[in-house]
Amino acid sequence: MLPFAPPTIGEDEISEVVATLRSGWLSTGPRASRFEREFADFLKVPSALALNSGTAALHLALVVLGVGPGDAVILPTMTFSSAAHVIEHVGARPLFVDIDPVTLMVDLNSVERLLSAQDGNGHVRALMPVHLYGQVCDLSRIDHLASAYRVHVVEDAAHALPARTAAGMVGAARLLDPDGPNNMVAFSFYATKNVTTGEGGMLTGPAHLVARARILSLHGMTQDAHARYASDGSWHYDVVAPGFKYNLSDLQAALGIHQLARLPQHHLRRRAIASRYEAGLMAVAEVERPSAVNEESNAWHLYAIRLNLEQLTIDRGRFIEELRARRIGTSVHFIPVHMLTYYRERYGYVPEDFPVAKREFARLISLPMHAGMTDGDVDTVIDAVASVALRYRR
Ligand SMILES: *Cc1c(COP(=O)(O)O)cnc(C)c1O
Repeated sequence: MLPFAPPTIGEDEISEVVATLRSGWLSTGPRASRFEREFADFLKVPSALALNSGTAALHLALVVLGVGPGDAVILPTMTFSSAAHVIEHVGARPLFVDIDPVTLMVDLNSVERLLSAQDGNGHVRALMPVHLYGQVCDLSRIDHLASAYRVHVVEDAAHALPARTAAGMVGAARLLDPDGPNNMVAFSFYATKNVTTGEGGMLTGPAHLVARARILSLHGMTQDAHARYASDGSWHYDVVAPGFKYNLSDLQAALGIHQLARLPQHHLRRRAIASRYEAGLMAVAEVERPSAVNEESNAWHLYAIRLNLEQLTIDRGRFIEELRARRIGTSVHFIPVHMLTYYRERYGYVPEDFPVAKREFARLISLPMHAGMTDGDVDTVIDAVASVALRYRR
């Protein structure tokens, strides 16, 4: 089987984990601090907060921005469900919008319509755009909307390491307006992501908000355990808020340090794989390749093709089964959140509410994409896609 997205782990990661095991300190400590510092340097931001998931980063962003009951947060329906869950967790309402048919990212015209209507679904306090597949959203327009309507921006950058904008890396928070809305950015180090710690995440944003999130990430304590147990530490701690248990362990940070060091090299490999797919699939008319929009900035987390269903006698589900029969692992990113049972039942959504997302979802397939893929692997996938398309051509 050619797997969809196995992690690319080297000897440096393995030795660092072993060294951590031998060090006597497994929880959040020197390695988590080093990972944060090196991550912040990589993005050229003053500070970053290591967390135990990307979902935790999204959740803490909403908490420190003060989003709560009676508020609403606008997000695209084409995202991972946890982005909507954290809005529920703070007691706010997720307001889904449809997507752009080319990039599959949030449709900013719909966002602007919702912002200008403020129709009683709750007071919109934040936007949560997703840099889908490693592409970068139109951040200048998002910032413009955020300033005009005074709403915060929480970027879901789970796919966007290392994605770039003209102004710098995604995650280098932009100050929208010194006394206006704020901007925070959440990354994920889940096992399939471009940098992995098995499970993990990182939060960036204005220093005072990251500092607040740091306290909330560890029970609301003002001093972490490593500081307390240090030779000059004190047993005393205080708790200033009912915080969460969201800290990243040194065992995981050990992986992150070396994954981050390897990222530039892995990124080049992902770009090369994307180019090879692009060239190889060009001849397959039944398949639409990802738009090359933002190619220079793209982190190429996923390579998602879309089937031209009217040219095929089988649907997407069957196409995936045929690829599996040819020993190719695939996935689908994502099932639009408004089509999932909880959100359908809670808010009364029907699939047709967001017709672009519904239509594009039905023809999406994410092909294998990971830094360990050889050119031969990529060609194997291209040949399999071409053979299924040929066999079931209408
Ligand atoms: C992976 C992912 C998340 C959640 O990250 P976890 O680290 O698994 O909590 C959020 N949003 C998107 C778009 C993702 O792909």
